[in-house]
Amino acid sequence: MEAIIIFGPQGCGKGTQAELLVKNLGIKHISTGQLLRDEISKETDLGKIAGEIINKGGLVSDEIILGIIKDFLEKNRGNTILFDGFPRNINQSIELLNILDETGAKKIKVINIDIPREESMTRLLKRAQIEKREDDNEETINKRLDIYYEQTQPILNFFKQEGIKIIDINGIGSIESIQETILNKLKE
Ligand code: AMP
Repeated sequence: MEAIIIFGPQGCGKGTQAELLVKNLGIKHISTGQLLRDEISKETDLGKIAGEIINKGGLVSDEIILGIIKDFLEKNRGNTILFDGFPRNINQSIELLNILDETGAKKIKVINIDIPREESMTRLLKRAQIEKREDDNEETINKRLDIYYEQTQPILNFFKQEGIKIIDINGIGSIESIQETILNKLKE
């Protein structure tokens, strides 16, 4: 089993790039944010709990997220998995490494797509008009970006210390050219 983590601030295009990677590489994909949004639209118990937190721009508890991840990995043993939106903090990262150790994962690669904070804001406000995501308003976007820079970005250093290779990608450019760069760098 291999694990690929697609990483970057909100609006960097990781969801779009993840979908293309799934098509191009035929790998399995988990987006914790999408999975939670599906639970919200199905009005499940999990959806009700997650919905309140997501709409305020906060993070859902590690316990809930790790439960989702363990369940997904259990069902997809032996596959290469692309993680989108997970891990979001150091604790989730430590737990991920433990889980991958237990499942005998051989390789972990991190694709770090970066864009400036102002670009995230511009792109997310534009997305708000198109997709009407309730968590895409200026106040919530700022809160989500604060959490990204305070809790999520430090994961990169943690991974580096663990000897995990980080593939840095500039998130400004066309969808196709960024995908091509990612595919080339994954082969290196
Ligand atoms: P995303 O689509 O990845 O931006 O996720 C949307 C929202 O889902 C986030 O703002 C969080 O509230 C929640 N969420 C997604 N993934 C996680 C995670 N790994 N840990 C905690 N909360 C998460």
